[in-house]
Amino acid sequence: MLRQALLAASRSGGARRVVETAPFTRDVARRFIAGETIEDAVRVTRELTGEGLLVSVDFLGEDTLDRKGTGANVRRYIELLDRLGAARLGARAEVSVKLSAIGQPVDESLTLDNARRICTAARSAGTAVTVDMEDHTTVDSTLGIVHELRRDFPDTGAVIQAYLRRAEEYCAELSYEGSRVRLCKGAYAAPDDVAFSGKEDVDKSFVRCMKILMAGKGYPMLATHDPRLIDIAGALAVLDERDADAFEYQMLYGVRPQEQRRLAGQGAQVRVYVAYGEDWYGFFMRRLAESPGNLRLLARSLVGR
Ligand code: FAD
Repeated sequence: MLRQALLAASRSGGARRVVETAPFTRDVARRFIAGETIEDAVRVTRELTGEGLLVSVDFLGEDTLDRKGTGANVRRYIELLDRLGAARLGARAEVSVKLSAIGQPVDESLTLDNARRICTAARSAGTAVTVDMEDHTTVDSTLGIVHELRRDFPDTGAVIQAYLRRAEEYCAELSYEGSRVRLCKGAYAAPDDVAFSGKEDVDKSFVRCMKILMAGKGYPMLATHDPRLIDIAGALAVLDERDADAFEYQMLYGVRPQEQRRLAGQGAQVRVYVAYGEDWYGFFMRRLAESPGNLRLLARSLVGR
């Protein structure tokens, strides 16, 4: 119930004004984002890669509804990739892109052109793009765009949300040689006929999907903070004889940082998803919906503690 309410609030202009202007919420949001500027993103990326972690940087600009804003978001990505290229981090620092930031709500062919421009900049920087998955109504369009992008940029990452009832089918389709696939639980509100809503059902689907990806020919990117699922991933790697460099764990910046370092210390590849930008509201509300701990953090900040 609370999760649904927070996810609904993540799309509400009224709730947005309240949260964005409330004292201290920006400070709490800072726990999950690198900062508001490109310098913040590059600084945090350098720190994390310096510690042996991998990074995927996301510029926060989802749900951009006009062409001008879309073009500005593309330029921000290109500038970011120039900076990452100059830092010579190669594939240790990739970028994650939400298609709703680069035209999907406006025009699909504009989105594809914009995504190609970002992929071209990523290639020049020696790295790649992963296309985030958003609301369930956009899944087919997003997978279609990833398919098109992979013709010229085969290293483009796809994302599958385990809460989707069709998740296993998507994983099987994407389990081919060279295919980079991020598996996550899914962070958006979705109706019952499209997605599982109970935690146990979502977790079981995640395990089934993980089995397909780990046994398949692609490159699995397992995005979860869930200790049980992380253990199962480790066991599947042994079972499927996957070397440590043949898959990666992914976690969000600010969430279970010690676990990120513990896994990396054991020789695993761990990629940290680093979001930055001024438009942090939607991203922040989804983090609150995920964890009672995150919500307590906000509550404490609101009462000034
Ligand atoms: P949860 O069910 O939220 O948590 C399971 C357990 O993990 C908890 O019981 C706890 O033990 C631990 N845990 C979780 N959060 C915390 C915390 N804050 N502090 C301490 N322990 C915690 N979603 C999309 O819809 N599309 C995307 O493209 C997408 N990309 C993502 C990329 C990355 C790298 C990651 C990590 C997530 C992404 N997500 C995306 C979000 C994802 O779908 C989940 O909403 C989010 O990861 C929470 O799910 P979870 O697997 O951590 O499990």
